[in-house]
Amino acid sequence: MLHRSSALAMFLLSSLNLLGNGGRREFRAGVVFGFGNGFGNGNGGIVRTVITTTIATRTKTTKGRATALVGTSIFGSTAEAEASSSPSSPSSPSATDNAPASSSTTTSSSTSTSSSSSSSSYDYSKLKMEDVVSLCKRRGIVFPSSEIYNGYAGFFDYGPLGTELKRNVKDAFWTEFVRAREDVVGIDSSIIHNPSTWKSSGHLDGFSDPMVDCRETKLRYRADQLYTSPAILLDNDRGGNDKDDGDGGGGGGILLGYVTVMEGNDVDMIKSAETQAKKLLKESSGRDDVKDARSGRDARFKPFEFVDLTQVTEDIMRRVPSPGSGKPTLTMPRDFNLMFSTNVGAMQDATSLAYLRPETAQGIFINYKNVLGSSRLKLPFGIAQIGKAFRNEITPRNFIFRSREFEQMEIEYFIPPGDEEVWGPYHRDWIRDSRSFLEGVGLRSELLGYDVHSGDGLAHYARACTDITFKFPFGTQELMGIAARGDFDLRSHTEGSGKVLDYFDEDTKEKFTPHVIEPSLGVDRLVLALICSAYAEDEINGEKRNYLSFHPRIAPVKVAVLPLVKNKEPLVDAARALFGKLQRRWNVMYDQTGAIGRRYRRADEIGVPYCITVDFDTIEKDGAVTVRDRDTTEQVRIPLDEVVPYLSKMIDGY
Ligand code: ATP
Repeated sequence: MLHRSSALAMFLLSSLNLLGNGGRREFRAGVVFGFGNGFGNGNGGIVRTVITTTIATRTKTTKGRATALVGTSIFGSTAEAEASSSPSSPSSPSATDNAPASSSTTTSSSTSTSSSSSSSSYDYSKLKMEDVVSLCKRRGIVFPSSEIYNGYAGFFDYGPLGTELKRNVKDAFWTEFVRAREDVVGIDSSIIHNPSTWKSSGHLDGFSDPMVDCRETKLRYRADQLYTSPAILLDNDRGGNDKDDGDGGGGGGILLGYVTVMEGNDVDMIKSAETQAKKLLKESSGRDDVKDARSGRDARFKPFEFVDLTQVTEDIMRRVPSPGSGKPTLTMPRDFNLMFSTNVGAMQDATSLAYLRPETAQGIFINYKNVLGSSRLKLPFGIAQIGKAFRNEITPRNFIFRSREFEQMEIEYFIPPGDEEVWGPYHRDWIRDSRSFLEGVGLRSELLGYDVHSGDGLAHYARACTDITFKFPFGTQELMGIAARGDFDLRSHTEGSGKVLDYFDEDTKEKFTPHVIEPSLGVDRLVLALICSAYAEDEINGEKRNYLSFHPRIAPVKVAVLPLVKNKEPLVDAARALFGKLQRRWNVMYDQTGAIGRRYRRADEIGVPYCITVDFDTIEKDGAVTVRDRDTTEQVRIPLDEVVPYLSKMIDGY
């Protein structure tokens, strides 16, 4: 789905009591806020927003933001992160996690358990992207691309575990939305289409992001991801309030200059702005008005009011510092088309120019007639596709959240034409089913949210668009979009190609162009969300443990087979035999090195849901093994021939 707007803007209001009382703020994107005559809002620090976003061809407008509590002081930040939510992992009666439960302590496969004491108390608000990136690298989930050549910005390589994880995510999507439904089929189109496709779809003219250049460092930034705010020292002698008195400084304040911050989580943005404001204050310390203002005991900054750089006038831009040079060296924004171009064939001229697809959706539209003609589908029906997409993002960042090469899982669900009475229920069903899928693969519900685009925030042809958001460590951002797109796409391709892309209803004998609902989800974004959501920490018998609580369905390794000792041949043989059997069904690992407790930890860290220990009792007494659950650390004793059905139920649900 093309989701770009030339006038994307974001508004951040921080209501800051600079001596530390927490204030409340609203933080929304897609909201245009002009500098106007000063910066005060005059309502006690909470500003409400007005949406006046302009629209590109397939436009995205708002991004939902969580409300946060933020307090900050000129003398030190007392910022409080967004309310934390702790995943709860059931705790269990105490026992040791360093030894498997053997048949001497357990008897029945289904009921007897042994476990160690595990209590998860992980505070999600403490999760840092550095931790996630480092874990991914250390454990072979994601690597920077071309690392031996110092990497390549915006590109990533998936390691052995990441590849399995990604495959499981795609399989889960495909099973849920294609195989388990009779009304959706899949395709796999080429990455490079006839370039006319992109003319008709609007990408050639409209798939762009606003960009600013730093004249000094030659660095480029996405204008809608760079924010500026005036840094205003409140003058207590002149009132020292937050109200605008129309002097450009606002609220009896003294304008020290401007700060520039990159889009990020709210706390980080405020911190960065504060640091810059303090620097400006230091640099202005010789000014008489500043000296006067600071003579009051509780000198304060006015709450920052951020606007993105698509919204500033040339006059303001001349005073906004570039993040690279620290000086006002930024150009005014201009559009930058995100499609990667290439040449097809031996000639390299205008006629050979082609594009790497920036989304998978158009491959579906241009195959609409082929799929309809070769199947017995009747409206409503969907066509799904999973595949690579490429966008020359101006500032790829936040790890695999925004990269230049990524994968999408998209569905075009064709429905009869009509007004909201017709498309509304389909749209709502897809939002419900999408959310249920996301929770089904293990995303914690409390980290998910919605961002409903409405009114001016919608493209002219779009009926509705709802994003499902996820609370990433760097802020709440779009994870998936579900748009009601009318008949715009099929009509555009009909006009562009001259081939009529319509539907003949055999019951009514009517011909019409179907409308479409488009659920669109990034594989890599979902993988990142799953890792963040699964990140957990607890204590087992007083010892700290880090683990990934992946849903068994998407865990990259489902089972670790652990022989209790590695030098007892019959025991090792039994373990290898079980391993060989399980390998045919799932991705499993065999680990015989180190103490059993240490092997459990290794498996926990990469999110293996089940560890199976083969011990002396297995070969000498009961022919059973111990299966340990990662999250609860509970152990059950299961006869060898019941292991596969047991795991099937636990992993696949049947
Ligand atoms: P954003 O506003 O975050 O750039 P978008 O609105 O442009 O996203 P869409 O065009 O709607 O995104 O693409 C559908 C989905 O593809 C997104 O919800 C996201 O999951 C994924 N996606 C889009 N761009 C990227 C990217 N650069 N890197 C990784 N995933 C992406």
